[in-house]
Amino acid sequence: MDSSSSPSSVIIIGAGISGISAAKVLAENGVEDLLILEATDRIGGRIRKEDFGGVSVELGAGWIAGVGGKETNPIWELAHNANLHTCFSDYSNVRYNIYDQGGKIFPSGVAAHSYKKAVDAAIEILREQEATSCGTQSQKNSTTFLPKTPIELAIDFILHDFEMAEVEPISTYVEYGEREYLVADGRGYEYLLYKMAESFLISDDGKIVDNRLKLNKVVREIQQSKDSVMVKTEDGCVYKANYVIISVSIGVLLSNLISFTPALPKWKTEAIEKCDIVVYTKIFLKFPFKFWPCEQGKEFFIYAHERRGYYTFWQHMENAYPGSNILVVTLTNEESKRVESQPDEETLNEAMGVLRNMFGPNIPNAASILVPRWWNNKFQRGCYSNYPFFNNNQVIQDIKASVGHIFFTGEHTSERFSGYVHGAYLAGIDTAKTLLEEMKDDEEANLLLEPLLALTDSLKLAQTDAVSGKLKCDLPRKFSLSGISDGIL
Ligand SMILES: Cc1cc2nc3c(=O)[nH]c(=O)nc-3n(C[C@H](O)[C@H](O)[C@H](O)COP(=O)(O)OP(=O)(O)OC[C@H]3O[C@@H](n4cnc5c(N)ncnc54)[C@H](O)[C@@H]3O)c2cc1C
Repeated sequence: MDSSSSPSSVIIIGAGISGISAAKVLAENGVEDLLILEATDRIGGRIRKEDFGGVSVELGAGWIAGVGGKETNPIWELAHNANLHTCFSDYSNVRYNIYDQGGKIFPSGVAAHSYKKAVDAAIEILREQEATSCGTQSQKNSTTFLPKTPIELAIDFILHDFEMAEVEPISTYVEYGEREYLVADGRGYEYLLYKMAESFLISDDGKIVDNRLKLNKVVREIQQSKDSVMVKTEDGCVYKANYVIISVSIGVLLSNLISFTPALPKWKTEAIEKCDIVVYTKIFLKFPFKFWPCEQGKEFFIYAHERRGYYTFWQHMENAYPGSNILVVTLTNEESKRVESQPDEETLNEAMGVLRNMFGPNIPNAASILVPRWWNNKFQRGCYSNYPFFNNNQVIQDIKASVGHIFFTGEHTSERFSGYVHGAYLAGIDTAKTLLEEMKDDEEANLLLEPLLALTDSLKLAQTDAVSGKLKCDLPRKFSLSGISDGIL
């Protein structure tokens, strides 16, 4: 058993981009005795490539979103430094590539009209929700537009599951620009993480060999006492540290994979329960040859069906990997869960049925299919957080707030960029900086107390009160573990 006998300063749970960026900041600031515990056999988390059809496809994050604005997206900068190959994604024409079930493209006038109607309705609903949440309007009074026809349903899907999944102004676009670039590099998006990890962990021949990164370590239990934390893994190992950073997804926090002693306070669990989790499934299909249009403006196309979200959003991979003959169809939420629970062969038949409706009966069968299962992955349980726009900011603050010596990070803790790779990356940095401050404060408090403690045993009690008092004043949402925690929860 490789349980560590000497405690680490910090244990980081999860080696996705937030966990790695947090660890890097700690290491750069002199916290070398850290330990990263990762449940799977790799680093990267929701940034994950897989070889498929002769190329490398991204099962998780695929785009660097937010490029070309006044500020440089830090992920774009990392990609630039690593020479990562990317290609520009142009969504502007997608509404003019909407196929009906007979394979005809809707005339641009019809598509534009349906699109405008849907956007106007969506804006009206959002305004009403905003007014209701601000208390300036008590209830809805719009004649709410309900999409009914296949084209209306398809547009509703694009708007709400893609374009307007967030509400304007979208911080990512405001801050970093509105362009999006698809990663198309054999080394994968995850290469950025390896580069980052290599900068503070020992590596050999492109592999991380540092003992401070432990793979296949599924954390099941976290026990917190007054000034230390004990972490137990599924294989029976026990690790101790002064502080812990948890970077697992909101889906994992909700799943009870990890138990906490004492239990997390109510304000924390209630906040976690309020966060929506999006499931987003990119299904890859490899063909012997291409039968879809590839000219400019045709990268993305839409299938209009009476069932909302039924194989609606398609993309060809010719811009990213010319000659790869790969199509990607994206399903979300309930449709994602449905295909995750059925055999891939059934999914292939459904997708082929849709493609034959669009491109005719004579197209070839796909030679292979790849269906990621993010919902059923117990180390993810979904793809990314999606806070309702009328979300009270307190929810995210509570999700992010530390509990004693346990700190929380991950994309879902990013106030401005939740859901994105750059959100996760910046959240990791932010959490590490907050922890460094806390470590400094704790150290100073201990230094002050040490001479007093040397004087009499009775002053030991004074130390307990002083430390818990400090925590209570500085960090009102935290609880101290000095025996009076219930009083301040
Ligand atoms: C399908 C999909 C498409 C996406 N598309 C984009 C996109 O195009 N652009 C974009 O910017 N973002 C996109 N995202 C979101 C982006 O991938 C995430 O926001 C980001 O990668 C999250 O990083 P993280 O460090 O917060 O979490 P994670 O990457 O989930 O890292 C958490 C780590 O914790 C580990 N873990 C879980 N439980 C335990 C346990 N009990 N013990 C130990 N370890 C544990 C996990 O294995 C994982 O490695 C997409 C995500 C998905 C899934």
